[in-house]
Amino acid sequence: MPEHAKAGEQTFKGIPVSPGVCRGRILVLDKKESSIPKYDVAEEDLPEQAQRLEKALIETRREIIEVQRQVNEGVGAENASIFDAHLLVLEDPILIDEVTRLIASRKINVEWAFHEFAEKYVATLSRIDDEYLRERVSDIRDVTERIMNNLLGRSDAGALRKLHEPCIIIAEELVPSQTALFDKKFVLGFATDSGSKTSHTAIMARSLQIPAIVGLKTASQQLKSGDYALLDGYTGHLVINPTEQTLFEYGQLARRQVTFHEKLRDILEQPAVTLDGVRVVLSANIEQPGDAAAVKNCGAEGVGLFRTEYLFINRGILPTEDEQYAAYQQVAAALKPQPVIIRTLDLGGDKFLSHLQVPNEMNPFLGWRAIRFCLQETQIFRAQLRAILRASAEGNVKMMYPMISCAAEVDQANALVEEYKTELRKEGIPFDENIEIGAMIEIPSAAIAADTLAKKVKFFSIGTNDLIQYSLAIDRLNERIAHLYEPTHPAVLRLIKMTVDAAHKHGIWCGVCGEMAGDPELIPLLLGLGVDELSATPAIVPQIKFLIRRLKLQEAKALAETALQTDSGLEILVSSQTLARNIAPSLFEK
Ligand code: PEP
Ligand code: MG
Repeated sequence: MPEHAKAGEQTFKGIPVSPGVCRGRILVLDKKESSIPKYDVAEEDLPEQAQRLEKALIETRREIIEVQRQVNEGVGAENASIFDAHLLVLEDPILIDEVTRLIASRKINVEWAFHEFAEKYVATLSRIDDEYLRERVSDIRDVTERIMNNLLGRSDAGALRKLHEPCIIIAEELVPSQTALFDKKFVLGFATDSGSKTSHTAIMARSLQIPAIVGLKTASQQLKSGDYALLDGYTGHLVINPTEQTLFEYGQLARRQVTFHEKLRDILEQPAVTLDGVRVVLSANIEQPGDAAAVKNCGAEGVGLFRTEYLFINRGILPTEDEQYAAYQQVAAALKPQPVIIRTLDLGGDKFLSHLQVPNEMNPFLGWRAIRFCLQETQIFRAQLRAILRASAEGNVKMMYPMISCAAEVDQANALVEEYKTELRKEGIPFDENIEIGAMIEIPSAAIAADTLAKKVKFFSIGTNDLIQYSLAIDRLNERIAHLYEPTHPAVLRLIKMTVDAAHKHGIWCGVCGEMAGDPELIPLLLGLGVDELSATPAIVPQIKFLIRRLKLQEAKALAETALQTDSGLEILVSSQTLARNIAPSLFEK
């Protein structure tokens, strides 16, 4: 592995977030909206600017008609008609007249003229005292963003859909809705300037098994599309123009990995049982119904976390109850009799719906997110809860609520579930009357008051990604403070222990479905703290099983006991790492 740059090659170091090595040409995505160029244009070049506007409008029109056609085919003409409003915006004569006037009078480029016009247009509409017009603001934004993308030739979600050659994506930032569009045939790997290990973009990369690096700071500004690169998702190195020597070293690494993966294959069918005979439930996290196959192939015992948000994003309208039912039912039926824990919608934070009017928030992770959103948007929640209940007739379905902060939220959500059960009964639609409902423990208040919650649910699943972010006040997306994001912080350990103890005291089980459960070095600690279930991305499940099968629970308990008395998070990390590395050295060779 290259520690020093060799002649001719250039190495960037970021945070490795999804394992694997890939090599290929890079595609640098354009920067965010903030980089709209502004420049003066000579008198004789002004007509060209106006022509560019016309071209962008024609292209945008073509795109919208295509999206409308897809929606029409997928969910019917009624929903597709919302795009008529988008097409009307394009045809608004004020748009062309005003932008052309700005170009001519100020002698500026079309992007800047259009940007000024669009901002004014949106601001004026937002101020009008007419609810209908105000609601059109998001339509206008959607269309103006498309036009701007076409003016800039920007690689937006549309361009990601249109990739036709394998490449490594380099971007300042990628949002989960973009990562979700990645086609593994064409996206060999990706690297971003921003982000951290528990951002949903990174989680998606692991789920898709695409090598990825985040936190490269300014790499996207320094690189240009077409350069040849090698991306190492194990160490976080992005090597531009790798030398023959570097490629040779990586070739050897790849061969060692193949041998190791073959070794892991041997234990797929074996149980996740410790050397001293304690059975651990090992489940998988999924993001899409199609991931059910990966769950079967990785040797997991069902799904510990089905993130349902991806059914909602990257589309113009909400998924219907029937559509959701089909998705949940597909997973439940494929994995039956193994359990599938469906997490109710966790929108907000870093996952948004493009078409839903959600006000901009200063702190989206502390805002209108997850269960808070669902308990207010009850029509959206109703469709999902009914779909989950209906799917429960087709397999071993459980559900859990995200971002629970107090017992009242569980009560409210449970009351809605009861209401929809009554509806379904009346309609004669089957569902599992005893469907088990759990709470995610990912807010410190929930962990501290876990005993109040334990009486109301059948299980807990600790979302360590958020639990760590909220207890340490570390934004999980911010690469500048990523080094402070410390899973082994004594406070985090205490919160996990309190949660596990409260669960056991009330006779329910407690799992972990955050990324901590997918880190082999931390498994001894989690099991030592008494966690009953671990749920991780399918690609990592075999490694976790490999480790569990070499672990003595007694040793893990002793480790956790000492950890709970230790002041330093780093010391705790090192002791868990040491135990893990001692019992399963081959896991860590790479
Ligand atoms: C978590 O917070 O640990 C979790 C599993 O949920 P998400 O990553 O989707 O927020
Ligand atoms: Mg969470």
